[in-house]
Amino acid sequence: MTSSRRDNRVPEQVEARVAQRVPEQVEARVAQRAPEQLFTCDSCDSRSCTREEGGRGPGNCPAGQEELMSAALGQYKSEELNAFYRCSVQVAAAGKGRWPRLRETAEFARRMGYRQLGVAFCGGLREEGRFVCAYLRRQGFTVVSVMCKTGGVSKEQAGIGDEEKAGPENFKPMCNPIAQAMLLNEAATEFNVMVGLCVGHDALFLKYAQALTTVLIAKDRALANNPVEAIRRGESCLGDVRE
Ligand code: SF4
Repeated sequence: MTSSRRDNRVPEQVEARVAQRVPEQVEARVAQRAPEQLFTCDSCDSRSCTREEGGRGPGNCPAGQEELMSAALGQYKSEELNAFYRCSVQVAAAGKGRWPRLRETAEFARRMGYRQLGVAFCGGLREEGRFVCAYLRRQGFTVVSVMCKTGGVSKEQAGIGDEEKAGPENFKPMCNPIAQAMLLNEAATEFNVMVGLCVGHDALFLKYAQALTTVLIAKDRALANNPVEAIRRGESCLGDVRE
């Protein structure tokens, strides 16, 4: 744990850090981009960025954004991020095809020298959350865990009406990802693991967490927490959000 991270627990400062992830001028330029200039790597067949010799991507290839690419590269050169990034590359190589993601997470944390980890888990995945915490403790880490319902705050207090809730007849505390993040910040966790937070709640957690966070489980209520299954099954299982 670096002293700067310990000292940096105030939400405003977190927001400022998030805002700094992309230089302001670059963000403004991206916002001004004409629709035909928007990046669409998904429709690129050249994939020249994957070849050492390079070559031309399509006209809207983001690789042409030299200033931005240079700014991104500069970010990897800070002492903290360089070690973090290198460690992630090393872990991916060391356990390729052998280590499940949970093992990779523990390996990564060990190689980074972290001692105190945070686990933000969903109450619907309590057993999984308990398993993750127990495993990480057995691997020698101090684990701080916070469940999504922490604080037992009613949904009404967050301005949610009965008509918006799945079961208005029963008291159901709100999921509280911002509090989850703040509590882990308060505990000065060095690295966080997210276990099954809902879509949107996960994003709020990431916005407010001060320690960098990895996603162990992405919640999917319909597909046993395996979102990729929807992609494999195709659009027929997804429906149309415009209907
Ligand atoms: S970065 Fe350029 S070359 Fe690579 S996939 Fe995207 S558009 Fe294609």
